[in-house]
Order: sequence, then C-alpha cells, then structure tokens
Amino acid sequence: MVSRSSSRSMDYLPLFFDLKQRRCLVVGGGEIAYRKVDLLLRAGATITLVAPNIIDKLTDALTAEGHLCLRREFEDADLDGISLVISATNIKAVNRRVAEQAKEKNIPVNVVDDLQLTDVVFPAIVDRSPIIAAVSTGGASPVLTRKIRTLLESLIPESFSSLAQFLGRERPELKEKYPDADHRRRVTENFLDSPGASHAERREFDAAKQYLNESATAQTGEVYIVGAGPGDPDLLTLKALQMLQKADIVLYDNLVSDAVLDRARRDAEKSYVGKKGGGDSTSQESINAKLVRLAQEGHRVCRLKGGDPFIFGRGGEEIEDLIDAGIPFEVVPGITAASGCAAYAGIPLTHRDYSQSVRFVTGHPRDGEVELAWQEFAHKNQTIVFYMGLGGLKKICARLIEHGRSADTPVAVIAKGTMPDQAVVTGSLATIWELTESAGLSRPTLIIVGEVVAFRERWKTV
Ligand code: SAH
Repeated sequence: MVSRSSSRSMDYLPLFFDLKQRRCLVVGGGEIAYRKVDLLLRAGATITLVAPNIIDKLTDALTAEGHLCLRREFEDADLDGISLVISATNIKAVNRRVAEQAKEKNIPVNVVDDLQLTDVVFPAIVDRSPIIAAVSTGGASPVLTRKIRTLLESLIPESFSSLAQFLGRERPELKEKYPDADHRRRVTENFLDSPGASHAERREFDAAKQYLNESATAQTGEVYIVGAGPGDPDLLTLKALQMLQKADIVLYDNLVSDAVLDRARRDAEKSYVGKKGGGDSTSQESINAKLVRLAQEGHRVCRLKGGDPFIFGRGGEEIEDLIDAGIPFEVVPGITAASGCAAYAGIPLTHRDYSQSVRFVTGHPRDGEVELAWQEFAHKNQTIVFYMGLGGLKKICARLIEHGRSADTPVAVIAKGTMPDQAVVTGSLATIWELTESAGLSRPTLIIVGEVVAFRERWKTV
C-alpha cells in the first residue's frame, strides 16, 4: 500500500512542548516580550529575561522564585542551559545575533516577526486544557490564522475540557481493563456517543463513570430539545450547532427553516413531524412517544423547534414524557420569534422612554374569539407581541381599542422574520388589518403592538 502521508511536505512539524522544569530565554523587555512570557508561564517554564529596558508588568510577572530578570544587553553565554529562545526585540542586529548563536548551540529559536531567523513558530491557540488546538499558516497570513482559530473556538465547547480531564483520569484503568487497543477504542467511542459524555462535560464524573462501565455493551440514547431560532441559521446558538452535529436523528417541524436544517450533520436522518395549522393533541402525543421510542432504541435525537422551545413551543410537554420514561435530555434555548423579528425589523421591544414592559401572548383564536386579559393591555407604554395572531388580527385590534388602547397605537406585522424574504407591514390599530390583508403576507407572522414600533421609521432613515 502506498502511504499517502508522504505525498505532502510540511514546512513545520507541529509538536507540543512540555516546558515544566525547563529554562527559556527571552531577549527583549517590551509588550511583545510580555505576551510571549505570559504564554511560557502558562506552560510552566522557568524564564531568564534579558533586556536593557524592561517594562514594569514584565518584572511583576517574573517575581516568582527561579525566574531571572537581567537589565543589560544579551550576551552569548545567556544561552547556556537553555531549552528554547525567544528574541522579541525591535533591533534587527540583536535578533540576528541571538538566532545565530542559538542555532550554533542547537537550541530552537523564535524571532518575533522574522520567519527567516525563526525555527519554531508560535501557533494561534484554542485552550481547553488539557485539550489544546494549535493553528499555523506558517506565517502566510496572521489574519487567516485568527479566522481559523475563531472557527475552532466555536466548534470545541468549553465543556470538552472536563470531558478530556475525565478520560485522562480513567485512562490507566481503561488500559488495564481492555488491554486490546481496538477494543479500548470501541469502548471509548461508545462512551463518547452516550449520555455519559454529557455528564462528564458537566463534571458529573460519578454518573459519567457508570456509563463508561456500561460502554462495553449497552448504548443508551438521549434527546436534545433545541431552539432553532426564527429562521436565519446564523441565529442558532453555538450549543444548538453542537447538538445538531451530535444527533443522528433530527425531528423538525414547519417553523424550522431549510437553511437551519442544512446545519445538521450531513448523515443524520431528518424527519418532519410538523403539524400545519395549530395541531391537535394526538399528533403532539405521537411526537412525544416517538422521542421516547427513538431514545430507547439508543439514538441521539435532536428535537429541533422554531424559536425557543419553551415559548409557545410545547417543549414542556415533550420533556414530561421523557422524564416519565427516564430518558436523559437537555434543553437548549433559542432566539424566540419576538427577539429575532424585532431586531431584524428595527423595533426595540422595550425603550426607556416609550415602553417599560413587553408581553409575549398567543393570539391564536379559538372558536373565532381571542381570549385574553384585554384590560391589562390598555395602558400605553407597554409592548405586546402576539404569536400565532394573523388569523385573529382584526379581533385583536378591535379588542385593544375597545379596552382603551388608542386607535393610532403603532402596529407591525412581520412575516418570515429574519429570513431573506422577511416582509414587514406597519400601520395603527385602526389601519393594520386592511393593510395586512392587501399585502398578502406568508406565514409565519408575528404582530408587535406598541409605541416602540414607530422607531422602525427612524431606524430606516439612519
Ligand atoms: N417557539 C416559537 C414560537 C412557536 S408558536 C418561538 O419561540 O419563536 C408559532 C408562532 O411563532 C408563529 O405563528 C408566529 O407568530 C411566530 N413565529 C415563529 N417564527 C417566526 C418568524 N420567523 N417570523 C414571524 N413569526 C414567527
């Protein structure tokens, strides 16, 4: 078999260097030297710093026993007994001298901002110790390096640090129990796919350990109830994305946009469980039952719900069944339609001068009537957001006016909020129904009533 790894040459070999109990030399006493010293200290190095002028925070950082701060020029003998050298001065001749001498003595050297004199480069780091991800573009582009680092930051949850600590702690026992490396790998993979991994991420190490013990055989599923936000996939939370990458089955309904669904793992099975036009309790029950069944079969199921699962999302009912069946689950909040639509339509939901409170209410009419505590909505200076209100819009406006809200109170109807084809119609309690009828909006739509709606006009003129 031809080895493919030999086909590509690398400019650098990435290595992780244990610097504890080792002495590093830093030449230079300014801000850049400080940044390098900070990193070296994080890695437990002992430091000798040489420079005629040294800024205070550097001397402050190096007060612990063992470190040396020498206020003078670099001398060749400074390299004796050194494992790594960093030259961080802005004087080229000094940098060159340090690099030449280091090479002569076979000590790896980094000269800040000078690749030619350098033989070890500092990568950009994502630190989830004990996990450390390092990125380098070999000096090609620091901006691109930072961009890739940001991508990695979002892909590696903070909680993986705890997960890695747990696995590191268990490793000696695992090696003893499963001497065969393949077997050990399968057990660890099973564990990582089990709810035990989430326990370890939450530092519930005892519970995690139980799953690890069972990972040689059983596989248990779990459910993630995830808020998908109002439509724009960039409004997914990092946690939602992580869950979408983890799940092998995704159950979604009609509020979840295609663009959001595209962010699920490519090979995940995607199953539509939508209910057009309100929905009855039987289909909600069958969704609940399906979640339980799939988890019992050992799947990791993502229940993807529009907006936030706990705001008019029936997330509460779904978890009740999961609790009864003893299925492990997690709820990930999402940006609710009110927040998303308001932001994308230029309407602040509250404002110090115009609205001191905001209410999210359901405008869904039952038997042609929208049953709400209308008298509570009469006062000015409060924003009311109606979810599921399009069908009852005419009634909603009439009731608000009847109960004393001024007929010229501004109203916005936002259709397909945050999506590329978002449409907004604005008017007043007196006019909005007719304006909306003639606009022929598509669902979903959200209604915002209150003085803050007038803000949209000002925003647009900026
Ligand atoms: N859990 C969801 C709400 C579900 S109720 C959330 O937190 O947003 C369904 C109602 O949400 C719809 O009738 C509509 O009023 C509103 N809605 C959801 N997404 C919307 C969007 N992108 N644009 C406008 N309204 C939306």
